[in-house]
Amino acid sequence: LDKAWSFMIRSKMPGGRITAEQWMIHDDLCAKAFGNLRLTNRQGIQLHGVLKGGVKEVIHNVCHSGLSTMGACGDVVRNTMGPAAPIKDAVHADSQKLTEEISQRFLWRSSAYADIWLDGEKVEPDWIKDPVVDAKVREATKAAEGEDPIYGKVYLPRKFKIAVAIQPCNDVDVYSQDVGLVPHVVNGEVEGYTITVGGGFGMSHGQLNTRPFLGQPLLYAKRANVVDAIEAVVTTQRDHGNRTERKNARLKYTVQSMGLDGFRAEVVRRLPGIETFPPKELKFDTVEDKLGWHEQGDGKLYCAVYVNMGRIVDREDGPKYRSAFAELATSLKLPFIVTPNTNMIIADVAPEQKEAVNAILAKHGVVHADDAGFTRARKVAHACVALPTCGLSLSESERALPGILDKIDPILAELGLEDEPILFRMTGCPNGCGRPYNADFGFVGRAPNKYAMFVGGSIRGNTLAGLEFKSVLGDEIPARVRVFLEAFKAERQEGEIFADWFARTRTKGAEPTPEQFHVE
Ligand code: SF4
Repeated sequence: LDKAWSFMIRSKMPGGRITAEQWMIHDDLCAKAFGNLRLTNRQGIQLHGVLKGGVKEVIHNVCHSGLSTMGACGDVVRNTMGPAAPIKDAVHADSQKLTEEISQRFLWRSSAYADIWLDGEKVEPDWIKDPVVDAKVREATKAAEGEDPIYGKVYLPRKFKIAVAIQPCNDVDVYSQDVGLVPHVVNGEVEGYTITVGGGFGMSHGQLNTRPFLGQPLLYAKRANVVDAIEAVVTTQRDHGNRTERKNARLKYTVQSMGLDGFRAEVVRRLPGIETFPPKELKFDTVEDKLGWHEQGDGKLYCAVYVNMGRIVDREDGPKYRSAFAELATSLKLPFIVTPNTNMIIADVAPEQKEAVNAILAKHGVVHADDAGFTRARKVAHACVALPTCGLSLSESERALPGILDKIDPILAELGLEDEPILFRMTGCPNGCGRPYNADFGFVGRAPNKYAMFVGGSIRGNTLAGLEFKSVLGDEIPARVRVFLEAFKAERQEGEIFADWFARTRTKGAEPTPEQFHVE
């Protein structure tokens, strides 16, 4: 008798966009998994616990929904992230269009996927059918006859993450990406994008030459040349990335080994006839989602709803997220957007539908954060999945952080800090999927109920934190945090946020390295 192998299946959706019909297909597929869905902090959806016998059906149904799992995993360009807020202006429209163009250009072209999962049927995701069909890729695919036009025969040395951020909102955590893109607007239109390279927070337990890096500005490209410029970055990584040591294969190590100037020179060399410019100055305020109701700018509204750790599940003693979003999808046919903070936006709401949306949320015990009495820190905190479904986890994360925040919330309230922008993140191992290393407080699992505690990142997402305590017990975390919060309250200057107070008054600990996770 074979083991009951189970799998995680991840759907790819550029910018987190998903229609009501697509949502309901995923909701139905819950029956093949653990009965719930996990929103990811790359704006995708994960189904955990799909048994081997159900994998083909799940992938088939995801593909026939107009989404795909192609490129959601693997050594290719992953799901491209984009600003979650569905604001109807030129810069938001262009940013979402760019996420789809990138998704088209860097979708791998092997027929093996269709052969294995779709009985040879070619099913293209919706963003391929979009009018922005990338003629270059189509021609190249035809010409290449089996060899991928971008990835060649060897694909990339490692996964590759891209995101678009509109200043001042850094919801996608642009400095944590292999490639970050930031639009610059001239006379109301997007003129071009600044491109950052070499971010990435993963480091490997026991691999001493791995560590997190923030992305660095590389160049500025005019809008028409942006996707070509990204392709030059991707192919430079394809050709210069480390293929002998997988732990050092991410773009960030390639940028370090070539030097930023050397890397830039190689990228520019791959763009003959295309003019590039020095990167523009970037300025971000926050990684937070704007929760609650907002106008889109086209007469419609959107509502960003807090989802506890991104887990779409019906809890007997709590919110019934699954039922709420299913009813919104079936009765009002509203599209959703998964945010990079694993919350959910209900988009395109006509003003006359607002009360119906509120009633459905209330009926299922789901309160958007404006009504929930949450601290501001609670609204933006998130954790990676970790136990029981991540094979790399060393400690709890998704299941531990809410209980810890239950104890930190009253401390914040007692100190009058409930409306302060303070970023808490947790992961179950040093791999960093939950982006803990740029948080004000990052907790990284090192053993059951033991965490390395990092302090001194920033809600802006542009600073790495330092090691404050090598090992703290989960139960000790609130008291450790309280010490910092009390000092912040006592010492802060007028209007100063936690990150700036810490930078002004404290010496940051050592930036994250695998040595900090050695067991003595
Ligand atoms: Fe798993 Fe570690 Fe990633 Fe968390 S950070 S999901 S424990 S690999």
